[in-house]
Amino acid sequence: MQAPAKINLTLDVLGRRADGYHQVVMVMQTVDLVDVVTVSVNRNHQTILLQGGSEEAPPDQTNLVYRTAALVQEQAQLPYGVEIELDKQIPVAAGLAGGSSDAAATMKALNHLFSLGWDDKKMESLLARLGSDIPFLVRGGTALATGRGEALHSLPAAPAFWVILVKPPFGASTPQVYKALKAKSLPEPLPWPEEMTPENIPEEGYSANMLKALRTGSYQAVLDAMGNDLEKVTLEWFPELKVLKEKLVCLGCDRAMMSGSGPTILGFTDEEAKARSIAEKIAKETETLNYRVMVARTLGREEADEWIVDCCR
Ligand code: ATP
Repeated sequence: MQAPAKINLTLDVLGRRADGYHQVVMVMQTVDLVDVVTVSVNRNHQTILLQGGSEEAPPDQTNLVYRTAALVQEQAQLPYGVEIELDKQIPVAAGLAGGSSDAAATMKALNHLFSLGWDDKKMESLLARLGSDIPFLVRGGTALATGRGEALHSLPAAPAFWVILVKPPFGASTPQVYKALKAKSLPEPLPWPEEMTPENIPEEGYSANMLKALRTGSYQAVLDAMGNDLEKVTLEWFPELKVLKEKLVCLGCDRAMMSGSGPTILGFTDEEAKARSIAEKIAKETETLNYRVMVARTLGREEADEWIVDCCR
């Protein structure tokens, strides 16, 4: 099962709620930079055996893949063990939700392998316990996420485009970035309907503009509507990210922006050859800095679904 990375087309932070969580409105998009999660049954015992992963996401009980398998075992009362191999390609703590996507892929694979018959809604609500942005990775494509990021509405697919992803050799802790934002406290009860939808999200902010842009289907309109409230924190902490953004535009990207809480910087173009040539140049220019440079394209929901079929051995 392939576990795609997500990028943010927008990220608006509306404020901090009484329960301590930040109220966000985001437009998220899956791209075809993937981890691979391979799952098989062990009928001899009930142990979860996880292999692979990486130095920053080791194959132990803290790994989201392990935690998801344990959750499925418990919820479905499975009398069997599972063996899982995790091939990590998505950088960790990069603003690309790699861990969240691994969790979603693990649940989808186990749902398929054990014929549990769980629909997306059921998987999304179980996975929301492990992390706010995991539910989005169950459905993929282009979606609006509100609340803590767990309340989802699918959106018209974004026009296809290419992304150059540049990950510096340091991570950004999502909770620390939110803390440093010092968002205003929100009144109780919250000043908008409990269930935010594409129709009733606050008019001001990047996301409302992005919804309009997506309806036009225009790549240029989508570029114009992009924005991320967390950039001001992470770019202030790491001024080299500002330089990186400028460099990507200088090299020919139509726009550059940070994904999620960073530190990955994204450059956008609608031409594959241009994306590959810019990636090559940026890799050469940052050779001594140990930056990781990747190229991906946007991934529609149907394409993500097709991957389920060959998920299990
Ligand atoms: P987000 O955009 O959701 O904030 P992120 O890209 O910043 O995501 P992840 O790579 O998803 O962050 O992982 C964040 C933390 O989760 C890491 O500190 C890592 O130790 C832990 N983690 C647990 N399991 C995994 C996994 N399978 N892959 C990556 N990280 C994992």
